[in-house]
Amino acid sequence: EFTQSDLLKSLPKQFFASLVQKVGAYTEKGADIINLGQGNPDQPTPTHIVEKLKRAGENPVNHKYSPFRGQRSLKEAAAAFYKREYGVDLDPEEEIAILFGGKAGLVEIPQCLLNPGDTILVPDPGYPDYWSGVELARAKMVTMPLREENDFLPDYDELTAEQLEKAKLMFLNYPNNPTGAVADKEFFDQTIELARKNEICVVHDFAYGAIGFDGNRPQSFLQSEGAKDVGIEIYTLSKTYNMAGWRVGFAAGNKSVIAAINLLQDHMYVSLFGAVQEAAAEALLGPQECVAELNDLYESRRNVLIDGLTKIGWQVSAPKGSFFAWLKVPEPFTSVGFADYLLEKAHIAVAPGVGFGEHGEGFVRVGLLTSEERMREAVSRIESLEIFKK
Ligand code: PLP
Repeated sequence: EFTQSDLLKSLPKQFFASLVQKVGAYTEKGADIINLGQGNPDQPTPTHIVEKLKRAGENPVNHKYSPFRGQRSLKEAAAAFYKREYGVDLDPEEEIAILFGGKAGLVEIPQCLLNPGDTILVPDPGYPDYWSGVELARAKMVTMPLREENDFLPDYDELTAEQLEKAKLMFLNYPNNPTGAVADKEFFDQTIELARKNEICVVHDFAYGAIGFDGNRPQSFLQSEGAKDVGIEIYTLSKTYNMAGWRVGFAAGNKSVIAAINLLQDHMYVSLFGAVQEAAAEALLGPQECVAELNDLYESRRNVLIDGLTKIGWQVSAPKGSFFAWLKVPEPFTSVGFADYLLEKAHIAVAPGVGFGEHGEGFVRVGLLTSEERMREAVSRIESLEIFKK
């Protein structure tokens, strides 16, 4: 048996592996678990995209290595997508880098820009893969608490002058996983000012960019003036087009950051399967009704959940975007204690907030990733719990 490297041993523990195990144990015993704990979209990829993959998969050109750094046509499609959706101009070659899903880019970026010991600002609660990127770069993490009273936006005044001076990179993510918060243009404008003043590279994770409720369209970071001077946005097709299994996304924005990502990737990959790239271009440029329909679907599920829980006396706030609801756990439970309680007594799996950072304590994350009917069933199971009996 070989020992693992110190680097590997230093990586953060996968908190949610234990949740998967717990749920698995119940399912094996035949329990009918409503699993709202994971972040895996439940709908299939729209047919026109799958059909494109089939045709492109038959083309022998795609059986060879695809071009280094991805197909020009996909980069052009990504640029056209940003122009159409957000009015943002991007140079396909210099301002876009193709990624193996958003996760790969997010994990790679710290290694592209930081030296060991450099500081990264990371939201807490936040998507745990940011921590992996920090560790792989042997960088130092300073967390930015996301508090409910501040609409789950970081309060930059909480950062000390020394922290700002040392920080080289900042992760942001709106619509937010796990809180469901969205950011407005004013917040991004403020962020750009702060980043410019302190020479911080902003990495905005726009994984849930297509999912905004109550008629509010989430703002892209790149829509703010000067965004390209100070950072990039990571876009993924996983959620917008239900393509999580396809592993395709892109980074867009600052040329020097894009060049760094491309350079690192030159040493790791050639590029994605050509047929996947052609289908991804089809997703970005083809019919977009599927995106609006998906948004409506999540919004209806959200309404069923939030209205249902409010009716039974659980004080919860509605997410404004993403496909997660971030629910305050009733007293006197901890987030892990309450998740265990729901699993044991109601056979409902949710993600404990503390798995997203210490400021996630006191909340659970509920994915809007099952049918309205199952959502209703979940609400009715919760209603019959001892703690909600009046
Ligand atoms: N960022 C956030 C906040 C996410 O929740 C996810 C996926 O769950 C991702 C990025 C990564 O998505 P992918 O790697 O599938 O593009």
